[in-house]
Amino acid sequence: MPAAPAPAPPREVPGDWSGLRAAVAGCEACKLCRTRTHTVFGVGDEHAPLMIVGEGPGADEDARGEPFVGRAGQLLDEMLKSIGRSRQQHDAASAVFIANVVKCRPPGNRDPEADEVEACRPYLDRQIELVRPKLIVALGRVAAQRLLDTDAPLSRLRGPLYHYGAAHTPLLITYHPAYLLRSPREKAKSWDDLKKIHQFLAQPVQASP
Ligand code: URA
Ligand code: SF4
Repeated sequence: MPAAPAPAPPREVPGDWSGLRAAVAGCEACKLCRTRTHTVFGVGDEHAPLMIVGEGPGADEDARGEPFVGRAGQLLDEMLKSIGRSRQQHDAASAVFIANVVKCRPPGNRDPEADEVEACRPYLDRQIELVRPKLIVALGRVAAQRLLDTDAPLSRLRGPLYHYGAAHTPLLITYHPAYLLRSPREKAKSWDDLKKIHQFLAQPVQASP
């Protein structure tokens, strides 16, 4: 068997918002650049305590350049509203920042591949570094598996509090709104997760040890 190609060295990405936005807008680091219409950087408050991480842009997001603007996005907005948050708000009690593990649409809405997520990860990691959220919430299996580097099913990943990246940012996993549209019976469990998210965000920040 031929040896697997060596992974690309980590890319340096700009450390400020405007540099980062420009880098994503012109990015050609993975094959998704060839089929995208618009890159989808992320939206919301640059210092929101809550950061939502989805899978990747779909057709509506690719057309508009904004995450979660299709049907699943409408449900996400309702879910956020139920805990008093929205992408238009800028105070800590109601702000949110919304991004995806890949910034360009996978053709035909297939899952983003592991190498695409890895190529895009420096952007997400920088966004997390700049936002410094109190909590990250990953939506659905693909985002959860890639952030936690696991193949475990979502049913196993949902529940515990994890920590992501160098800053050990608290991370919870919940259902993707597109899945809830297909399986409305899971909405009760999603509501349990939303309450947990809200409670976590209401706690005072713990001093680092
Ligand atoms: N689904 C996602 O995971 N992200 C989007 O931006 C839209 C739909
Ligand atoms: Fe670049 Fe990410 Fe788009 Fe790939 S998905 S081209 S890494 S911005």
